[in-house]
Amino acid sequence: KYVLGIETSCDDTSVAIVDEGGRVCANVVSSQVEEHAPFGGVVPELASRAHLSNLPRVMDKALADACLSLDRISAVAVTQGPGLIGSLLVGISFAKALAFARELPLIPVNHIRGHVRALALEFDPVPRPALALIVSGGHTHLFRWQPDDAIVLLTKTRDDAAGEAFDKLAKMLDLGFPGGPLVDRLAAEGDPRAFEFSMPRFRDGSADYSFSGLKTAAAMHLKRDPHAFRDLSGQRVKDLCASFQAAVVKHLLQRVKQALKREPAEALLLGGGVACNSGLRRAFEALAKQAGLPAMMTSPVLSTDNAAMIAAEGWHLWRAGVTADWDLNPNVSLKAYDEVRFLANE
Ligand code: ATP
Ligand code: FE
Repeated sequence: KYVLGIETSCDDTSVAIVDEGGRVCANVVSSQVEEHAPFGGVVPELASRAHLSNLPRVMDKALADACLSLDRISAVAVTQGPGLIGSLLVGISFAKALAFARELPLIPVNHIRGHVRALALEFDPVPRPALALIVSGGHTHLFRWQPDDAIVLLTKTRDDAAGEAFDKLAKMLDLGFPGGPLVDRLAAEGDPRAFEFSMPRFRDGSADYSFSGLKTAAAMHLKRDPHAFRDLSGQRVKDLCASFQAAVVKHLLQRVKQALKREPAEALLLGGGVACNSGLRRAFEALAKQAGLPAMMTSPVLSTDNAAMIAAEGWHLWRAGVTADWDLNPNVSLKAYDEVRFLANE
């Protein structure tokens, strides 16, 4: 049996096929970077149109990659949210039409839970309870993933997401779009101690994540000496990228360390697009080693948006008897967690 997954929550059009054993038979991701690059960010209306024209081709490619015809597919899983309304709507409409025409069950998937489930595609089994840091372009969540599959939220960002912060720094420096990978590359040749960034702190003792202060600090460093940053291959640019990245990583792991003091954990998990960041991967691995726990991180293709994670989560839901009716609608603010148990600052 095979589940076909469809992911169109933001600017990647993806269709994947996953089998009963959790093997990824195909995972086609069509990026829209070229469409959005001239605007320096994702333009929602363009994204919806691109999904519409890409989906049939991307699905055909996925079926061809898996050497399967549509009549071998047993269920259709689709991202219901969170994401951009127009983009989600295109994917859901496509999935509904496909499921209706082939008389297949339709399975509604939460995109963020998909990022968590991606870990199970590469690590089997994932020991639980586990602490899962899911860092992406729109979300920064620290979860406890329970043995019974429940997801407990420990903390999240109160302003920007980590990926968004990387993208904004890139924009400030005029590096291009998407910014995260560009900052990562330049940071590799920079000095992480060249610029000062202080860790976000809250008077109310909250252990929220916050990236807007780091972004403002970067803007101040830039403003102080704008000429020094004109040459994009110059040392100052590399140093700023390295210092900013080090601060983001430190802040991300600061909360994981706090959680480790209080939460039971058998493993440390890292997922979402920012899990591609080389500095974060290195530091995450070191932290896990220090804590005596296995570090499990999704590989780059399963970190950024992909339909394999949607199909995998779809499998899981289908086994649990979850299917959608034909009136399924997108939910742009769908919550990934079942329960909240906020950390407090020490
Ligand atoms: P969400 O999952 O919250 O809805 P999204 O789907 O847009 O958001 P993902 O595709 O999971 O996000 O991740 C994209 C983000 O990851 C972008 O912000 C991008 O800049 C960031 N990113 C990708 N690679 C790197 C990297 N090497 N270093 C830092 N950030 C990165
Ligand atoms: Fe995502």
